[in-house]
Amino acid sequence: MAEEIEKVGIYGGTFSPIHMGHVRAALAFLREMKLDRLYVIPAALPPHKAEKSGVGAEARLEMTRLAFADCPETADGRLDVSDFEVRREGKSYSIYTLEHFSRPDRRLYMLVGTDMFLTLPTWYRAEDIFRLADIVLMRRECDAQIGSELDQRQKEYANRFGARIHIIGERPLELSSTELRERIRKGLPVEGLIPAKTAEYIEKNSLYR
Ligand code: ATP
Repeated sequence: MAEEIEKVGIYGGTFSPIHMGHVRAALAFLREMKLDRLYVIPAALPPHKAEKSGVGAEARLEMTRLAFADCPETADGRLDVSDFEVRREGKSYSIYTLEHFSRPDRRLYMLVGTDMFLTLPTWYRAEDIFRLADIVLMRRECDAQIGSELDQRQKEYANRFGARIHIIGERPLELSSTELRERIRKGLPVEGLIPAKTAEYIEKNSLYR
């Protein structure tokens, strides 16, 4: 009998703060790729970046945990917010994370949004990333024009790296953390844009003010 292969998803990001676009992407990833388990992994940031936003890794980790705290996928153990990159010393290179989660009986899938997908060949040890994980693209914009560029890139990555690429069909929520930091700074409401418990944490700790 063939050995059971576990399908494991990796979703990394700065998540400063995590927003509903991220949450929707993570849940669509889990569902559409029929993953057995998904790790959502906030990145450690270089000190100058962390300082600039004034929001440390621990706070981003906590905001990410709170965002998924009430999901059935968290309750049944399929979704886990991992502190792996935050705890790890040194730079948060994706390849190190993939190597950490890789097992002989696992198939790894790495979720990226459009911006990250387009820069993949420039990532540290890109060829190893493509070898170790299937790449799953979740578009973050509805702009039809970008579609043809993405098709082209998909072909290029397949030819150049032997990439295995999947595309999530879910309609994107056009949101960014930049936009949300700006809203918070201006005191505008973020209801429906940031998960409720995360928004409460931001408010309570006066983040992004
Ligand atoms: P910033 O505005 O600060 O650059 P961001 O909104 O792009 O932040 P990140 O934490 O950098 O958020 O994103 C983590 C991952 O989630 C990336 O792969 C990114 O492409 C993807 N992503 C971000 N926003 C969305 C969205 N609205 N829909 C789908 N994927 C998204």
